[in-house]
Amino acid sequence: MATWMKWLRDRLPTGGGLRDEDWAGRHRLLTVLLAVVMVAMIVFGVLQGEEHIPALLLTVGLVLPCLIAGTLPRSRRLRSVFVALGYTVACAGFVSLAHGLTEAHFTFFIAVAALALYRDWAPFGVFLVATTLHHGAFGTLFSDHTYDHDSAVAHPLVWALLHGVAVLFAAGFQIVSWRLTEVEEDRARENLDESQAQLSVAFDQTPVPMAIFSPDGLIMRTNAAYRKWLGLPDELPAGFHLRDVPLAPVDAGEPPMLELMAASRESLTVTRRYRRLDDGRLIWVEVHGTGLYDRNDRLRLIYVHCFDVTATRDHEAELRHQVRHDSLTGLLSRQAFEHDLAVLLAGSAEPVSVIYLDVDRFKSINDGSGHTTGDDVLRALAARLQQVVPAGALIARLGGDEFVVALAGPAGTGLRVGNTILASLAEPLAGFPVALSIGVTTAFGAAGADEVVLAADTAMYAAKRGGGNRLQVFTDDLAVPVQERIAAETRLRRALTADPRYSFPLWFQPVVSTVTGEIIGAEALVRMRTEQGDILAPGHFIGAAEETGLIVPLGAHVLRSAIEHLQHWSNRLGYVSVNVSPRQLAEADFVPMVAALLAEHPCLDPSRLVLEVTETALISSTVDVSERLALLKQLGVRVALDDFGTGYSSLTWLESLPADVVKLDRSFVAGLADDARKASIISAVLWLAQSLGMSTIAEGVEELSDWEALRAAGCPAVQGYLISKPLPAPEFDKMIMSGFTFGGVHLNETTGRALAG
Ligand code: C2E
Ligand code: CA
Ligand code: CA
Repeated sequence: MATWMKWLRDRLPTGGGLRDEDWAGRHRLLTVLLAVVMVAMIVFGVLQGEEHIPALLLTVGLVLPCLIAGTLPRSRRLRSVFVALGYTVACAGFVSLAHGLTEAHFTFFIAVAALALYRDWAPFGVFLVATTLHHGAFGTLFSDHTYDHDSAVAHPLVWALLHGVAVLFAAGFQIVSWRLTEVEEDRARENLDESQAQLSVAFDQTPVPMAIFSPDGLIMRTNAAYRKWLGLPDELPAGFHLRDVPLAPVDAGEPPMLELMAASRESLTVTRRYRRLDDGRLIWVEVHGTGLYDRNDRLRLIYVHCFDVTATRDHEAELRHQVRHDSLTGLLSRQAFEHDLAVLLAGSAEPVSVIYLDVDRFKSINDGSGHTTGDDVLRALAARLQQVVPAGALIARLGGDEFVVALAGPAGTGLRVGNTILASLAEPLAGFPVALSIGVTTAFGAAGADEVVLAADTAMYAAKRGGGNRLQVFTDDLAVPVQERIAAETRLRRALTADPRYSFPLWFQPVVSTVTGEIIGAEALVRMRTEQGDILAPGHFIGAAEETGLIVPLGAHVLRSAIEHLQHWSNRLGYVSVNVSPRQLAEADFVPMVAALLAEHPCLDPSRLVLEVTETALISSTVDVSERLALLKQLGVRVALDDFGTGYSSLTWLESLPADVVKLDRSFVAGLADDARKASIISAVLWLAQSLGMSTIAEGVEELSDWEALRAAGCPAVQGYLISKPLPAPEFDKMIMSGFTFGGVHLNETTGRALAG
């Protein structure tokens, strides 16, 4: 029995499951329908005639309270029960008014179907019970008012039962359909619950901070990641607002996320900088916002996902910096410089100057003191450039020891800044005296970045060819050299391999004593004879020889040739001095080569050979070169410091040099007679050289007044056009054979015949 009951219970609908708003809608419909039925019945009853008035009054008298009770604010079950009673009375009344007409009984079936809308046992059951009771009681008492056929009038209870069964069947199918609806609803609810549970898991467990806001900024829901990220408690206080989130936007001008969302129907992604209010850190947050709209297109909710992209941003910035900057010096990279220069050229109203810098003999620092030292020097140079170049200029390292500066400014800016850079190198870099070759060019109007840099580079090359430690402004005739340089190299190589004695003859310029006027020695100056027979001064080929490395065989030829001449003039000429280029000196083979040459001439006193080395060569070189000079001196050869006064020219520096002779540069000597400052410097150098046991030669003396001044100052020897230009060996030979003496006032004939200069 119990199992049977359970079986039945499982198959019957539960009932009462409608949602309030659905129930209210159905209840309203049934109540209004009942009211309409009542009005229709009044009309019907009146039409039926006077004898029906009592039945009509009774019906209305019973339906009306049910109708009123159905609208009173009571529990919904009670209200539905009253409506069900109202329907029972209305159907019964209608049957009575219709004299028990069988078709009038149809209204009961209509009412069953109507009341099934409540989907609740109470109104349904009340209707069934009340209907059966009515049929039983009323059918017995007023059978002719309940049924309209004889059998029913005779056996009212049987027919009451029959009607009850019919209504019950009608109700049964309603119950089945009601039950089926419930099953479907349960299934739908289960599905919904499951998908909601899945969503909740996804929302709550995802490691991405997520939150749901109302359009006015109230926080409706947050996930654990969100709360953890912002250090919020698990239970947010009621009314927690977006304003209460501990993040402060950094860029105040940006519209709030809520405003953006309200203005857009699409999903949004914005990346913004915030300051965390807990630890004050600046972070980058990428916020994805999606709006949820209702059927009326009103924004209901905003979902946001937040990604802290600070690390990515920092990494990107770092990468950008790496691409844009040279890792050694922190200056701009070549790539960034080319880009920025193009922008500067395109956007500047003023001319743009480009200054190309290359460290002179940087290789010797690197080779001599190691790459770490080389790097230190480059870094120090970068820092120096940043100090002396005007703010806003582009400064880049193009690679190796090449740097470039670009800046806008009136014509002459590049020259001024270039000279400032040169002057700033009076202070050593990382302990090393460093010289630069600088090329400057100025672009007016639209010009390609490439061409401008190339022009500055070309000018820099010219400065380098000129001996370095100088600035060269770009001129159009400098632009030719690329092909010319190649041609020069071919010419040089050919000349050297054929017959160097013919192609590279030595000319000699006498050095005379200021005391006796006699020739005490000579400087060997190389010349080049072209295929056409023209004589070229060293300025035309020494640069190319240095660049190509051909200076090494050329230098060897000069030395050999000078020694041969020296041998030849053994009784008549004190010494010959030979210029040695830094590149030659840097050759590992140089000292052995000199030693071998001397060994070939055992009768020659090695001190009659003087090697001239420029001051800049010494300074930009390293310990290596000092050692090399020391080795040379061990061979008995003397060393002269050439061009003194053009480089760093510090008097204290002189002390540390292993030189026997100081050659004062022409720029130091010219105009000496009229310049008290020059005169006092020369006196100081002379005094110091003398006290260090060095001899001094003043170079480039052209004026008699300078000769007089030098002699008065006690300069022991002089070289210059005033006495003689460099002469081909045969002419110089004649000069010494003639017993030439410089008398001061009466100039020798040979001076006029001198060719080169
Ligand atoms: P330097 O060693 O300073 O040589 C002196 C230069 O000054 C010579 O030019 C000479 O002709 C010039 N000179 C002499 N007296 C006067 C004067 O009174 N007034 C003027 N204005 N100039 C005067 P040169 O022969 O053209 O040589 C130029 C440079 O070429 C030399 O400068 C030297 O650095 C280099 N050089 C010459 N021969 C050789 C060589 O065999 N090997 C190397 N490595 N370099 C050399
Ligand atoms: Ca010289
Ligand atoms: Ca010189």
